[in-house]
Amino acid sequence: MGGTFDPIHYGHLVTAEGAFWQFELDEVVFIPTGEPWMKEDRVVTPAEDRYLMTVIATASNPHFSVSRLEIDRAGPTYTRDTLETLRQHEGEGTELFFITGADATLEIFHWKDPEEVLGLAHFIAATRPGYDIARFEAEAPSRHPNVSVMSVPALAISSTDVRERVAEGRPVRYLVPEGVKTYIDKAGLYR
Ligand code: ATP
Ligand code: MG
Repeated sequence: MGGTFDPIHYGHLVTAEGAFWQFELDEVVFIPTGEPWMKEDRVVTPAEDRYLMTVIATASNPHFSVSRLEIDRAGPTYTRDTLETLRQHEGEGTELFFITGADATLEIFHWKDPEEVLGLAHFIAATRPGYDIARFEAEAPSRHPNVSVMSVPALAISSTDVRERVAEGRPVRYLVPEGVKTYIDKAGLYR
């Protein structure tokens, strides 16, 4: 599961656990982005903070882990490069799945070479609240055999909302794990 994770929240965790169960995965690897080229319009928190929050949030789950693959790589992040690296690491016998929100999956369809990316992994597109599934299904790649739609419980949580709450002094408890909340406070993030 790739993401900015700025910060990681229960929407990400519920989605990952849902995919783990529904697609009978062996493990879920969270891959925080390095330099998120899709988000250059705003200042993203240093990768090391986002990585640590992701480790804290996933530590208690035995089948969750976190990869430094993208944050240790210089330059912009491309999902295609990440999937190719994972393929080399894991060998041909491993089936790769890429878990994203349906909104993020649509962005992938609009890339230069979607067929190539869709050949590298099975994409699990999680529907999130406020998301128009008809818009997703109107796109031809949504019917690609390597794309599945997964509905997750209605969690209208977003990192954007969490950051705004912290900035305004409103509560984030029960939206992010306790340890993530503590880390945000200690590091003074989003103020
Ligand atoms: P931001 O508000 O900064 O865009 P975000 O909450 O969308 O952050 P990302 O790190 O951008 O979080 O998301 C990583 C992945 O998780 C994306 O594929 C995104 O679509 C998905 N995702 C984010 N929030 C949810 C949610 N509440 N339910 C299901 N999927 C989600
Ligand atoms: Mg997002």
